[in-house]
Amino acid sequence: MSKPPEPAPAEETLDFIREIVADDVRTGKHAAPVTRFPPEPNGYLHVGHAKSICLNFGVAREFGGHTNLRFDDTNPTKEEQEYIDSIKADVKWLGFDWGEHLYHASDYFDQLYEWAELLVQKGLAYVDDLTADQIREYRGTLTEPGKESPFRNRSVEENLDLFRRMRAGEFPDGTRVLRAKIDMASGNINLRDPVMYRILHASHPMTGDKWCIYPSYDYAHGQSDAIEGITHSLCTLEFEDHRPLYEWFLENLPVPSRPRQIEFARLNLTYTVLSKRFLLRLVNEGRVRGWDDPRMPTISGLRRRGVPPEALRQFAETIGVAKRASVNEYAALEHEVRDVLNRTSPRRLAVLRPLRVVLTNYPEGQVEEVELDNNPEDKAAGKRKVPFARELWIERDDFMEDPPKKFFRLAPGREVRLRGAYFITCQEVVKDAAGQVAELRCTYDPATRGGSAPDGRSPKATLHWVSARHAKPAEVRLYDHLFTKPDPGAGGDLLADLNPNSEEVVPGAWIEPSLAEVPAGTRVQFERLGYFCVDTDTTAAKPVFNRTVTLRDAWAKVQAKG
Ligand code: ATP
Ligand code: MG
Repeated sequence: MSKPPEPAPAEETLDFIREIVADDVRTGKHAAPVTRFPPEPNGYLHVGHAKSICLNFGVAREFGGHTNLRFDDTNPTKEEQEYIDSIKADVKWLGFDWGEHLYHASDYFDQLYEWAELLVQKGLAYVDDLTADQIREYRGTLTEPGKESPFRNRSVEENLDLFRRMRAGEFPDGTRVLRAKIDMASGNINLRDPVMYRILHASHPMTGDKWCIYPSYDYAHGQSDAIEGITHSLCTLEFEDHRPLYEWFLENLPVPSRPRQIEFARLNLTYTVLSKRFLLRLVNEGRVRGWDDPRMPTISGLRRRGVPPEALRQFAETIGVAKRASVNEYAALEHEVRDVLNRTSPRRLAVLRPLRVVLTNYPEGQVEEVELDNNPEDKAAGKRKVPFARELWIERDDFMEDPPKKFFRLAPGREVRLRGAYFITCQEVVKDAAGQVAELRCTYDPATRGGSAPDGRSPKATLHWVSARHAKPAEVRLYDHLFTKPDPGAGGDLLADLNPNSEEVVPGAWIEPSLAEVPAGTRVQFERLGYFCVDTDTTAAKPVFNRTVTLRDAWAKVQAKG
């Protein structure tokens, strides 16, 4: 194992899963836990998967065990190498390592087949010729028992012969299935003779054309767990009703170990849809820039947006693990993002919607360098020099010709501070032919260099700025929730709740020269504007920045109010 175990967490802080694991380790039932993260490679991972990854890898790490990454690749028609690669990259980026424990459900196809034959021989599985529709019809409902298939009582010999011929490719897709023979009257629909194998003449990314029958999730999953020696098989609540079936297979097969399935509540987030199927649809219909669009709740989207992996781990930790379904606030995720970025992001100057300022008393052609803190939260981050000259860009929003009472920023005749540089006073407003403010003519006070006045006067506002001659042009992309409603789709139509204004492209921003040519993935704070991350679309000619999150923390306010 690569890393030494972390000290086991204190008992009273344990969630119900860690309590079970701690107990099993203390009583010696297991020397250490073995968990698994079992994604189906049919899409990119989302933040819900991040919760499951943090839980599975976290539990194993804390109690000195390990975690398997297992691709649940039982449906070759939907699974792709691109997804496999993205899943591995995302788990690693989150900070977890499966070491040599990389597996596929398809690694066990031979064993699973052998065990299926064994169930047939024990009279516990049969080949059914009913169609998929008939099977559904015969299954019954929550209130009505199911009906037995007319093929249910085939002899062992006939079942074995048919199952072998299914495997040999003698029958077309959908004509027969292998079913477990359990109880068509069971109160639990999952026990009404669930399908174990279906015929699917499809090539598989791992096994090629070796198989034309593929096991169902329910049959493959528990046996894969047992083969791998998984001690605690952690899954989301919708599998609670599948647990008796999970146990049934383990009981009736000579499996090498007895994993225990434990269910926990899946992550739900306001303004967010966590379903690979729906996210795939957004991608296919071109409603987003791809799986990694910065608005997507995918791990790759969050990464491209600028969310640091620590923030996702912190989020997983603060929301905890519970047995009851709930919805978490998106703002709580943003709170963790700000917490990490505040500590780690260098501060930089950028102006999104520029307004020209000319300092009429500043010598023409003069350039000086002002020193700014890279991060006031982290003195070790040091300082940097930013060029200052006669013509500057400030934010259009930071000026009002006719300011209302509570507007303290720049206005005619008013003095403000330019961050780290000088105090300036607006003397004249120049307008264009259309009557729009085109330029401000201001004076600066040379005695205020560095941003403080010898006479102790202090303007109410400090503005960010860049030198017009030195700044570099950039495109900045601002984001809002992908959905307009906290509970998208509650009205029955998810697409109707898509936010048409979820992305705003600001084409003509100016950034301080130190930001020219910073590589994609670089995270910074633009002072007063938020946290930003260099997008993968960035080029030397046109840097592109995504706003990860604004500075304003609505969540902290909500919490303060209690
Ligand atoms: P989706 O419904 O989005 O397609 P899934 O459950 O089908 O997700 P899998 O690839 O089967 O996706 O999931 C891998 C693991 O991640 C499973 O153990 C599953 O329980 C867990 N998981 C999926 N969604 C969530 C979620 N929202 N919160 C926590 N865990 C999740
Ligand atoms: Mg699934």
